[in-house]
Amino acid sequence: MSADARPLVAILGGGQLGRMLVLAGRRIGVDCRLLVPEAEAAMGMAQVVNAAWDDDDALRRLADGATVATWEVEHVPLGTVERLERLVPMHPAAAVLATVQDRARQKHLYDTLGLATAPWTAPTDLDSCREAAARLGLPLVAKARRGGYDGRGQRILRSQADVSEAWSQRGPDGIILERLMSFTDECSIVSVRGKDGCIRHWPVVENRHRDGILATTLAPHPAWSPGLQARAEAIACTLLRHLDYVGVLAVEMFRNGETLVINEVAPRVHNSGHWTIDGAACSQFENHLRAILGRPLGETAARGHAAMLNCLGTMPDALLTDERGVHRHDYRKLPRPGRKVGHLTVVGASAAERDARLAVLRQRLAAMPGQDPPAKA
Ligand code: ATP
Ligand code: MG
Repeated sequence: MSADARPLVAILGGGQLGRMLVLAGRRIGVDCRLLVPEAEAAMGMAQVVNAAWDDDDALRRLADGATVATWEVEHVPLGTVERLERLVPMHPAAAVLATVQDRARQKHLYDTLGLATAPWTAPTDLDSCREAAARLGLPLVAKARRGGYDGRGQRILRSQADVSEAWSQRGPDGIILERLMSFTDECSIVSVRGKDGCIRHWPVVENRHRDGILATTLAPHPAWSPGLQARAEAIACTLLRHLDYVGVLAVEMFRNGETLVINEVAPRVHNSGHWTIDGAACSQFENHLRAILGRPLGETAARGHAAMLNCLGTMPDALLTDERGVHRHDYRKLPRPGRKVGHLTVVGASAAERDARLAVLRQRLAAMPGQDPPAKA
C-alpha cells in the first residue's frame, strides 16, 4: 500500500455491526469491503462481495488490496476465517474464534484462567446429563455448543424429564449445561486492545433483556462505582492478554452485588456498546478499526449518561423519535417480528436528564402500532 492510499478493511459479514463499522470508517478515512452471503444491512454503503462463505474466489476478491481483515459476526465458518487469514492479516486472529465459537471451549478458558463463570458441564451422553443435574442442581440452562444468539438454542431445565428432552433434542454440535444463576442485574464491559497491547475500556453498562434479547442498555451502569469498573476491567484484561487479542471484545456478566460472574464473551463490536456512538468520546466501531489498523486508540470516556433501546420488529416513525437528545439509527432492514432493525440512543448530561428524555420517548413509542413494546427501564 502506498503511503497516501486509504486503508481497506475486509469484513466477514454485513449486518448492522458491519454497517456501523463502515460508517465509522467513512468518518476517519477508512474504506471497507464486506463479504455477505445474503443481502443485508450494510448493502449499498460499501464495496460488497456477495457470495457464500465457502467461495474461495470470493475470499480472494475480498482480500485483494485489503490492509487488514476482521469479522462482524462470530458465526462465520472457522475454515473461512482461516483461509482469509492466509491472504491478509486478521484481527482478532482466527485462533480466537476457534475458542469462542464453541461454548464448551469458552467456559473451559474461564476455568483455566480462574475467572468466575456459571458452573457447567459438556455432557457426552444422557447419563452425564443426569449426573450434571444432580451435581450442579436444577434448574439448569441448556445451550447449543455452537451457533446460538439472542437466546436461540437455549432452554431452561427444571426437571429430570426436561434434562432428558434437552439431550434427545440436541443439535449436531451438542450442548452444554450450566446452572441457572440468580443475579441483581446483567452487565457488560466493552474493551479494546491495540496491536501495541494498549487496552482501553468503556464504562460498565447495565443490560436489560426481554425474551432473551437485549432490550435496553444503560450507560454507565446505574450502580457504577470505581470498584465495579475495576473488577470488570480486571476480567477483560485477563482475557485480552491471554488471547493476545486485537480489536473490540465484549464481556457479558451477571452481577450479584459486588460479585461478577462471566456469562459469555463476544469477540467483536457488541450491541451493549452501541451507545458509544452518541455517548462516548470515541465509539466502539471507530476504536475497533483503529485497533486492527495499528493506530492509537481513541478516548473511551462517556459523554454524560446514555440509554440505548433496541428497535425490534419495525423501526418507529422518525417523527416520533425526533426528540432532543435522541439519536436514531435505522439499519434499513426489512421488518420482521423480533428482528433488530435499529436502535435509539438517548443522551443526557445527568442520569436524571437522560431518564426524563427516556420517559418522553417511551410514551411516544408506546403509542405507535406495530412496534414491539419497549422494555421497562
Ligand atoms: P446474545 O446473542 O443475545 O448475547 P446468546 O444467545 O449468546 O445471547 P447468552 O448470552 O448465553 O445467549 O444468554 C442470553 C440470556 O439468557 C442472558 O443474557 C441471560 O439473560 C440469560 N441466561 C443465559 N445463561 C444464563 C444462566 N446460566 N443463568 C441465568 N440466566 C442466563
Ligand atoms: Mg449473550
